[in-house]
Amino acid sequence: MGINQQFPLLMELGSPGRRAYSLPKLDVPSRPIEDMIPRDFLRQDPASLPELSELEVVRHYTGLSRRNHGVDVGFYPLGSCTMKYNPKVNEDLAFLPGFASIHPYQPEETVQGALQLMYQLEQALCEIAGLDRATLSPAAGAHGELTGLMLIKAYHEAGGEGHRNEIVVPDAAHGTNPASAAMCGYKIVEVPSNDRGGVSVEHLKGLIGPKTAGLMLTNPNTLGLFEEEILTISELVHAAGGLLYYDGANANAILGKCRPGDMGFDVVHFNIHKTFSTPHGGGGPGSGPIAVRDILVPFLPTPTVEVGGSDEKEFFLHYDRPQSIGQVKGFYGNFLVLVRAYGYIRSMGSDGLRQASEDAVLSANYLMEQLKDIYHLPYDRVCKHEFVLSATNQKKQGVTAQDIAKRLLDYNIHAPTVYFPLIVEEALMIEPTETESKAELDRFIDVMVAIAREVTESPEQLRTAPHHTVVGRLDETQAARHPIVRWHAPNSDAESLNGDE
Ligand SMILES: *Cc1c(COP(=O)(O)O)cnc(C)c1O
Repeated sequence: MGINQQFPLLMELGSPGRRAYSLPKLDVPSRPIEDMIPRDFLRQDPASLPELSELEVVRHYTGLSRRNHGVDVGFYPLGSCTMKYNPKVNEDLAFLPGFASIHPYQPEETVQGALQLMYQLEQALCEIAGLDRATLSPAAGAHGELTGLMLIKAYHEAGGEGHRNEIVVPDAAHGTNPASAAMCGYKIVEVPSNDRGGVSVEHLKGLIGPKTAGLMLTNPNTLGLFEEEILTISELVHAAGGLLYYDGANANAILGKCRPGDMGFDVVHFNIHKTFSTPHGGGGPGSGPIAVRDILVPFLPTPTVEVGGSDEKEFFLHYDRPQSIGQVKGFYGNFLVLVRAYGYIRSMGSDGLRQASEDAVLSANYLMEQLKDIYHLPYDRVCKHEFVLSATNQKKQGVTAQDIAKRLLDYNIHAPTVYFPLIVEEALMIEPTETESKAELDRFIDVMVAIAREVTESPEQLRTAPHHTVVGRLDETQAARHPIVRWHAPNSDAESLNGDE
């Protein structure tokens, strides 16, 4: 059934003349619109827009919000995404007018507080990373990857090593790693994992050499496993003349416990929207600052925030950086996401951050131990903040990881990440985070046990799940190939939304 049979689109509600606003009568002289906008630019027919009352608009959007699963609605163990609860006090901070209402072109002396916040956030991230300077500009993890690789490239070029054109990426890597490297003009060299789920050092030795620009790694990796041989790996890559890039998407496992800089990494990105308190998942703004070792500082994007200017401008934006790769984002990054991160880091403190990581790791190990007899655990060793099960036992009985993921929705639990990492068949990648209670973790275990029982008792129930959500199982191929994301006026020739999808 089409969605709008159950839930009308905003455009289909209301009736002519309804308004959701009331404005006072105009009390200043007005000019005809033609005096301000050339006639050619003006539309001849009124736009076909819905006319609604305020209450209709409120009900519409509230209704839509209730059709979504979010971390404020239920458990969200989507591996790798760190869908933890975001304290609402950080939203209050981001809404303060001194942050939310400033303009990027405002004179620096009038936004000293904002610049100080950026400066101090940079320092906090450098301390967490164990590195020297950072840029807050990149808008997401993947953007941080691209920026970091551009720095690596600039570094090699400046050192007369511009011929280094290969980036080594493990077979367990997140897809953005090879994609960013390719976008930066690099050739991808894939290194296989060993049977403990880490990088195969034997293979690595044969893959690095005079063409190696660097290696990208996340630690703990996408299996949730700590890279036991990280020091050997970084020595090998550095000895070959390459640099090390740390994909910090899994930083929630290591805060205050160990530092990528100490492991030998030269560039680190943080997914602020994963680790440091910003709601994400619906495509909202993110932030992917990168911290770097001193050798890369000259190449950092402009502007940097510096301290020690004049009396009125103690903090200032610095653009005169001759070796910089240039600007990577309009203005200074997604500033209000940075405000949330600052509030989160300052309110947690170093002890709080360490506690968060310890609790995240404890939660993951608890779930893993409780579930590993029912679902196959391909790499059976202590995990960090997440772990990967395999539904191969269930697949033999005709039920896939996909079916299990869909069935979880019926229990008000978001699906884990499925079919990733690619090296695990029928993968279910589970990340509980530190913000769930033991009671909620126990409920998840009960649900997973119940689903395993259904595999033998009522497999059809699983193959046709979900049954209790607003929409049932979607045709994902059609949704990907022919997404209808735009409304067309009923009288237009374009494809109508009303057909059954
Ligand atoms: C989320 C993620 C990324 C990409 O980060 P975005 O902020 O979504 O661009 C990269 N690597 C890993 C391991 C991730 O989980």
